[in-house]
Amino acid sequence: MIVRKRKLKLKRPIIVIFKMLGIVLGLILILLCFYFYQIHDLEKIGYSREASKNILLSGKKDYIIGLGDNKLLNAAFESSDYDENNLDSYAKIEYQEQKNIIRNINTLIKKGYSNSDISTILSHGNDEDVTLFAKRDKVKYLEEFYSISYAKLKYYDRYLSYSRETGEDEETTVLFVNLGMDKEAYKDYNLVDKFSVDMLVNKYNSLSSDFEPEGLVEIESKYRNDEIQRGSKVAVDAFKEMYNAAAKEGYGLVINSGYRSYHDQEELCDEYRFWYGDSYVDKYVSLPGFSEHQTGLAFDIGSTSSNIFADSKEYQWMVDNAHKYGFILRFSKNGQAITGFRSEPWHYRYVGKDIASYIHEHGITFEEYYAEFLM
Ligand SMILES: [Zn+2]
Repeated sequence: MIVRKRKLKLKRPIIVIFKMLGIVLGLILILLCFYFYQIHDLEKIGYSREASKNILLSGKKDYIIGLGDNKLLNAAFESSDYDENNLDSYAKIEYQEQKNIIRNINTLIKKGYSNSDISTILSHGNDEDVTLFAKRDKVKYLEEFYSISYAKLKYYDRYLSYSRETGEDEETTVLFVNLGMDKEAYKDYNLVDKFSVDMLVNKYNSLSSDFEPEGLVEIESKYRNDEIQRGSKVAVDAFKEMYNAAAKEGYGLVINSGYRSYHDQEELCDEYRFWYGDSYVDKYVSLPGFSEHQTGLAFDIGSTSSNIFADSKEYQWMVDNAHKYGFILRFSKNGQAITGFRSEPWHYRYVGKDIASYIHEHGITFEEYYAEFLM
């Protein structure tokens, strides 16, 4: 009997402990379910697992759910730079894919920039540009240059000094500085070494002496004058298409000059210098490396009906139709201040149909297109 009683006495506390444990485990399970349910709520509307955990920890879940999916809030809650005081700003500023975006926003808020100012700043540079810009004193009239979509943060000082020196308006300032035209032509330039149909070669963008276009081919005699001419296949094929379309309507086109190597351009410059002098060459002839003819994408076009192309019916046909085949009139009368060249009615450049059509439709230079879309 005694033994039995002892056994019973031992069992009761164990049962109690098990019951308690069961209750605690049950509670933990319920809490865990609730926790994951809340995480799931946040994940469902677009927040990452990490951000969702931190949102729950911060006690801001209802606020976040109320706002819905927000990339910048997600980045804020993922970041170790998260500052609760700036939460409302995070919700309103436009997100950009930048590594230190939250740290930079915190700095910019401290400098006194508004949320919309900060959105503007973030959209005009990459992570590095914004980090540098955030370090400088507050810029008072941000909209002065940054209302222009393609203005760049990193050029702020150059914009300031260019507009002060020249008195140019903001749009011209941004365009010219972006294109490097605040520097000295032919002296301070970018080196271009990659071939593409939308490459920019001008007095500020130079090809090296050994640059050769992709797919350099000889142009069949039917399409050219009496001299051997070459061009990049993509441009030559487009010219043939254009040539045939023009011929069908009774217009005769001819290529008078296609690809010119660095060496060819050197010879050309020397020749013109000999006959006409330095100032003529400066105005009308590109120095070696700075000529579009070295890209194989530019053709000087003539007409079979007149020796002066600008007076020919073919010239008018080209003005109206060349864009449909991917060509643009590269040096127009209106674009002189930007291209740096006098009007050249005969010089056409292949840029592809989409770009050519846009340029034709908007009546802009290739430089303007390049600054807005390709830099
Ligand atoms: Zn030319």
